[in-house]
Amino acid sequence: MKKAIIIGGGISGLSTAWLLRSKAQGAGKELEISLLEKEQRLGGKIRSIKSDGYTCEWGPNGFLDSKPQTLELCKAIGVEENLHRSNDNARKRFIFSGGELHRLPEGAPSFLKSRLISWPGKLRLALEPTPFIASAPAGIDETLADFGRRRLGKEALDKLIAPMVSGIFAGDPETMSLVSCFPRIAELEREYGGLVRAMIMLAKKKKRDQAAGKVVSSAAGPGGVLTSFREGIQYLSDALVASLGDIVRPGIAVTAIEKGASARYRVKCSDGSEQEADLVIVASPAFASAEMLAGLDTGIAGVLRQIPYSSMTVICFGYERDRIAHPLDGFGYLIPKKEGRSTLGTLWDSSMFENRAPAGKVLLRSMMGGACFPEYVKLSDDDVVTRVRQDLKAIMNIEAEPSFVRIFRHPQAIPQYTVGHGKRLAALDDLLKAHPGLILTGNSYRGIGLNDCVAAAQRAADEALGLC
Ligand SMILES: Cc1cc2nc3c(=O)[nH]c(=O)nc-3n(C[C@H](O)[C@H](O)[C@H](O)COP(=O)(O)OP(=O)(O)OC[C@H]3O[C@@H](n4cnc5c(N)ncnc54)[C@H](O)[C@@H]3O)c2cc1C
Repeated sequence: MKKAIIIGGGISGLSTAWLLRSKAQGAGKELEISLLEKEQRLGGKIRSIKSDGYTCEWGPNGFLDSKPQTLELCKAIGVEENLHRSNDNARKRFIFSGGELHRLPEGAPSFLKSRLISWPGKLRLALEPTPFIASAPAGIDETLADFGRRRLGKEALDKLIAPMVSGIFAGDPETMSLVSCFPRIAELEREYGGLVRAMIMLAKKKKRDQAAGKVVSSAAGPGGVLTSFREGIQYLSDALVASLGDIVRPGIAVTAIEKGASARYRVKCSDGSEQEADLVIVASPAFASAEMLAGLDTGIAGVLRQIPYSSMTVICFGYERDRIAHPLDGFGYLIPKKEGRSTLGTLWDSSMFENRAPAGKVLLRSMMGGACFPEYVKLSDDDVVTRVRQDLKAIMNIEAEPSFVRIFRHPQAIPQYTVGHGKRLAALDDLLKAHPGLILTGNSYRGIGLNDCVAAAQRAADEALGLC
């Protein structure tokens, strides 16, 4: 019987293990699978901490239901019934600019009325579908900032694109690659010659497809409803762990992957044990994978080390509801860098998912750090609390002291798909040809969202099964 070892028990490793087992059973192939996780706790970045009646998300607070991957996985593992969608508040997103919160416009009429972008900025944006805008530079891995300035103008970059990049990647648009971070946007520009044109053409196509009775998928953009579970997003990783049973082996750190004797690879672990396997699927962060692969292939390790990570601090504040005058009727807000605040933004978690706070209380979750402010992850708890309170006062006029505080630090939070990321992936694909049965998956490569991780797990499981 062939043996597969999966390294890393975050959503990527867990879903790869589940999908591989299910596909192997479906194909009638016998395969022994084990998943090795360094920590005693499974789930990686997924962790829902219950404390004093609050549910605090340590990392992700859900996934968007506009893509099918995570939804399908939930259905397959039998937790679909327990899904908990965020309420309508989650659609109302705000940007803090010029001393006030502006609701992010959802359509042309609200955009025209909005005071977020000045009239010159709006006129610049109106040029987007015209021939005055330069086309994408051929053969250049354009940064998100260059793309924003070229297509939409500097103001839209500062107030719309940069906050979105910090909200998703905790990243710096001046270094991030458009095609690696948002491949669909790059593709739409190439295909339709502009974003407005793409939206018009896609809307027309949707109408035609609907008229023809076809099943119509959602829009090109992120869209969708933020989806989790009543118990928090950890319910998903817990369900995967429970279903995988003794396949999962926590508390075992892989130290090296080497060429094996009878099987293809020998996996060495921190407890001194060694295991041989025909297939090794590495689902740990790129920097950790680099260390375990250094002895097998210095080229692969070298490329993996080039994938940088941003740091982030997540700060949960709980308040008595009546101490906050603000209606908190939304998702929360993001803050453009030029506003000079300490936080990247604050999510009104208990407004989207009511049960995140006890009755009569609210939970606000602020983010600090990211690629633009890497030093903030080293601030003391007292400094963090002071700075978050200063921001909440300036932005939402909250003077009250929080009655509940939790601070979570992620020194290596999110991989950054900087310029050159595409070339790095191509180099990895090339180098991996010399190591059949060695597969890399996880959020370091082709998407950081939970949906992306599950999509990558599907590809990894298919590739592994093809080698059985
Ligand atoms: C603060 C924050 C908020 C986020 N919010 C969202 C959100 O709302 N929605 C969304 O879709 N995404 C969000 N993301 C992104 C998403 O959470 C991650 O991309 C995803 O969870 C990563 O999963 P993963 O399994 O690839 O990696 P990880 O979760 O990092 O798992 C990797 C695992 O590998 C293990 N490991 C490392 N070294 C070894 C070793 N030597 N041996 C064995 N095991 C090892 C680690 O311990 C870890 O458990 C957020 C991320 C952060 C940090």
